[in-house]
Amino acid sequence: MVVVEKSDFEADKSPFVSKFQRFFESVYKKEIEKLAESYPEKRSLLVDFSELEKFDFKLADALLENPDELLSAAEFAVEGMDVPTLEEERFKPHVRFFNLPEDRKILLRNIGSKHLGKLITIEGIIKQITDVLPQLKMATFRCNRCGNIYRVLQSSKQLKQPDFCSCHHRDFTLLTEDSDFIDFQKIQLQEPLEALKGNEQPTTIDVYINDDLVNQVSVGDKIELSGILRLRPTKNQSLVFGRFLECNFLEETARGFEEVEITKEEEQQIRELAKDPAIYEKLIGSVAPAIYGHEIVKEAIILQLFGGVKKILPGNQSIRGNIHVLLVGDPGVAKSQLLQAANSIAPKSIYVGGKTTTGVGLTATAVKDEFGEGGWTLKAGALVLASGGTTMADELDKMNAEDRTALHECMEQGTISVAKAGIITRFKTDTSILAAANPKLSRFDPYTPFIEQVDLPPTLVSRFDLFFMIRDVLDRTRDSEIASHILRTHQAGAKLFKARLKGEKLKKSELEAINELVAPAIEPELLRKYIAFARQNVFPTLSKEAIEIISDFYVGLRERGKEEGTYTATHRQLEGLVRLSEASARVRLSDIVEEQDAERAVRLVRSSLKDVVTDPETGKIDFDMVLTGKTHTKIEGMRTILRIVKEKAQVSDRVTVEEVLEEAKTFNIEREKANDYINELVKKGDLYRPRHGLLMPAEVK
Ligand code: ADP
Ligand code: MG
Repeated sequence: MVVVEKSDFEADKSPFVSKFQRFFESVYKKEIEKLAESYPEKRSLLVDFSELEKFDFKLADALLENPDELLSAAEFAVEGMDVPTLEEERFKPHVRFFNLPEDRKILLRNIGSKHLGKLITIEGIIKQITDVLPQLKMATFRCNRCGNIYRVLQSSKQLKQPDFCSCHHRDFTLLTEDSDFIDFQKIQLQEPLEALKGNEQPTTIDVYINDDLVNQVSVGDKIELSGILRLRPTKNQSLVFGRFLECNFLEETARGFEEVEITKEEEQQIRELAKDPAIYEKLIGSVAPAIYGHEIVKEAIILQLFGGVKKILPGNQSIRGNIHVLLVGDPGVAKSQLLQAANSIAPKSIYVGGKTTTGVGLTATAVKDEFGEGGWTLKAGALVLASGGTTMADELDKMNAEDRTALHECMEQGTISVAKAGIITRFKTDTSILAAANPKLSRFDPYTPFIEQVDLPPTLVSRFDLFFMIRDVLDRTRDSEIASHILRTHQAGAKLFKARLKGEKLKKSELEAINELVAPAIEPELLRKYIAFARQNVFPTLSKEAIEIISDFYVGLRERGKEEGTYTATHRQLEGLVRLSEASARVRLSDIVEEQDAERAVRLVRSSLKDVVTDPETGKIDFDMVLTGKTHTKIEGMRTILRIVKEKAQVSDRVTVEEVLEEAKTFNIEREKANDYINELVKKGDLYRPRHGLLMPAEVK
């Protein structure tokens, strides 16, 4: 005997079925007929909520308040309509509502118990997503005493068994093979980063999606969805429940800065600021005001946050507008502080690495875990979540190999690849990088080329538009200035804290003195909006004059390289110059990149090059150092040594290290250097030592 248990919903008792029927007949008849033609490939009827509201606002209200019953009623109503279907299969589509009223759009952090069982709309970015899993829909049970079979329709809550068998026992076995399943996927949704202020931590919520909604979205996607807030069954007898949203409708939304709300007055303030002749100084003064000096780095950070303009070329190729900045420096020179400061004013950003482990990695990863019910879960890292914004990557040198590869790919191609069970999935990312790293030997040595002192692959380093080397130099005047700044900052901070704690008011003069010292020229809140506004609305193009300045500087660099026999700059540097000038124009909300913008870009690039690609042995600017990790003189030197050994090996099979060192001297290579080069050539396998004190080239030619 087979008994089908009634579901919770009793259609004949619900007054809503006929109401929905009238609504569908008069407003959605055509859509339903079309859907029936392509059923079951397409199996959702999408209904604009505002249409329902117009037709019967009481019904619409009831849907929001009691979605469990009303969604069933709506589906029952569609099912009962007289439409021609192609397949034999029963026409039983989902009904999904979009465009819910504004007051149903709830911020993730504001979701509370009062929303339980209600239909709400939320927006967020997907942080984790599971593989598609089977979810029980129609469960088949067998009574262990008499063998009766029961079919029970499941909802998303707990497993529902028949109450009692007709033999008065309650002892069933679930027959999975005779049950029906639908596709299911679990998502962890996180608040959009641009909705967070400063360094706030984002809230998350789990979302369950099923059937035709699965596999529509992935990590890093920003989505808006509506659904019913439910309690998650807990395994133990706890009084506190988890919660999740059962999704009814979802759609991808644009990944802009829409969450940053800018009022008319604020826009006016921003436009005023942009006209201020001292705006660049004000902006620089607003980045980490408690940090003394480092103006050029702060200027670079400002331009990075405003960003260059992304270009789309015919044939769908694109050139990145993101500006990447690398800070390498001695410990304790405020690198981390600068990154944190940038994070607090960026409209959309994530800080990773260093001491504050937020649990977010850099790249996306696939793991098997509890969230995925034992199956695969795809987890988004910072580069994916901050897409469209900036990632602050601290202590880059301590990064694991996986993240390093990801960073490389992200900066080079604007994608991230994730390997999962042997299959590679690729994501688009569009993130600018502000990175900091310590030198290899913990302290900089001014006599060794930059690239040899950072533990980063040269190909990665060469992706940055600007690099700064921050050295902790002993300098009496500067030291005392910094010391006084730090001490006065601490003093002021303590005063403010005490006043706040005790509810006291500071004297006006005291407050002014503090403001003078550490208050940013522009409040962080307004600055975030300023940056978001500029990025969203201003897309400057190069003027003739700007082109001339950039081109002169670039050609000059290449010319000098040619004369000096070094390789100085690549087209990547040229593109970097353009991006920086565009960012500079954006600060003024100017549609045109003017001379002053190009000059600012040139000044920054020149300063950055001076730090990084100057060969300490010759004082020449040398890009080989960045591209290959070796200085030009070093490459030359190694080449010379190799040639010497090869020549000697032609005439003798006993080439001593001693005679090679002697000969190297005639090429102006000192013993010590020559020894270094020999060691390096041996390490690379170009030379080998047949016996102690002897050398042979790996191949004699
Ligand atoms: P890093 O990341 O480079 O190792 P941190 O950012 O952790 O250094 O800075 C170490 C400390 O020194 C911080 O408390 C910072 O405020 C202080 N500090 C370093 N340089 C300066 C400076 N120029 N002005 C003010 N404070 C500084
Ligand atoms: Mg640090």
